Amino acid sequence: MDFLQRLARFLDRPLFPWKKLILGFSVGQYLFETFLTLRQYRILQKTQPPAVLSKEISKETFDKSQAYGRAKAQFEIVSGLWAQVQNVAFIQYDVLPKLWSWTGDLLLRLAPARFSGEVSHSILFVLSFIVIQQILSLPTRVYSTFVLEEKFGFNKQTPKLFIMDMIKTNLLTVALMPPILAAFLKIIQKTGNQFVFYLWVFAAGLQLFTITAYPIFIQPLFNKLSPLEKGELKNKVEELASSHKFPLQELFVIDGSKRSAHSNAYFFGLPWKKHIVIYDTLIEKTETNEIIAILAHELGHWKLGHTTRLFGIAQYPIIIGFILFSDALSPMDTVIKLLLNILSRKYEFEADGFAKALGFRSELASSLIKLHAQNLSTMDADWVYASYHFSHPHLSERLKALDWKAKEALTSEDKDKKGSATATGRDGL
Ligand SMILES: [Zn+2]
Repeated sequence: MDFLQRLARFLDRPLFPWKKLILGFSVGQYLFETFLTLRQYRILQKTQPPAVLSKEISKETFDKSQAYGRAKAQFEIVSGLWAQVQNVAFIQYDVLPKLWSWTGDLLLRLAPARFSGEVSHSILFVLSFIVIQQILSLPTRVYSTFVLEEKFGFNKQTPKLFIMDMIKTNLLTVALMPPILAAFLKIIQKTGNQFVFYLWVFAAGLQLFTITAYPIFIQPLFNKLSPLEKGELKNKVEELASSHKFPLQELFVIDGSKRSAHSNAYFFGLPWKKHIVIYDTLIEKTETNEIIAILAHELGHWKLGHTTRLFGIAQYPIIIGFILFSDALSPMDTVIKLLLNILSRKYEFEADGFAKALGFRSELASSLIKLHAQNLSTMDADWVYASYHFSHPHLSERLKALDWKAKEALTSEDKDKKGSATATGRDGL
């Protein structure tokens, strides 16, 4: 608390060159991220898969995943530039202060007197800001869905579904944002010096509420969850869950195929009552044992306490961001993102290790390979780019950590030679 007060006092000086500082941070961050993307682009131009994958991934799939990666990298640079132009214009032309006074005038003129306070003003301000951002980000969202994802065969959304999603999201924002923001502001107003603590409690409560309410009230607006049919898969998942005392309440299949051909599986729910959700696309494209291996990995996250710890850590930046609501702290964002990703990658290796220890090494490896091939995910990465952007280790790193050896027989004559070369020389790429 003391630190925040001192920081606020330090920053609150009229002659401080605010604009220049913020512009500098903002442009600096874009240049840094573009530099990373260009480094990654070099890796995406390789024509041979990493050695550990050479037996598993066909040349055709590898080429396609590289092309997808390059298309996404180009998109990142252009959409980043667009966001950068907006940001610089916003700062240079004082868009936010103007929006603040404009929304204030609007309230004074149109709303009854009891809505002229700081809370109503803040709500109107944030809502207008969200509308502006949505309009400005529309071109990149449309391009990403209907051009980029479409080109590589992943988009399953129709324009109608896209528009419906947008309408629903906006209605939800209008319904949920005002009470939450009002509560935040009231807490800051009423709790004096200890407001950080109370905000933390509020944010934790809000997150618990979201976890409980989201699947019941919000998710059905967008997706259909149906109970998994009886059968081998269901039996095996239940067996896995009960052997680790995982509090499995319900098993669902989600119609992810409605929007995208990408596939996945995840858990949700309260600590004592959890649900497992499997994408219909995953069931379609992988075998039962491979799905079990993926769930064993997820179970590892739970068993090793990863989710709880990340949940606790992720609270602080959200609150600090909310209080200071300022671009001046974007370098701190960058550092937090970097640290969280390092921690998250460590957890991914641990969860893989957990699944491996349960005897799912080859199933996990083959499911990872299949998922990466189907999703055309990046299979190799520049280490600086990966350190900054990736919450998961990339495929070759994970296969190496699993100590995975290619299934297919190596060519007959120099079998031994090649075998030893693979064992020692896999770090070549
Ligand atoms: Zn994981």
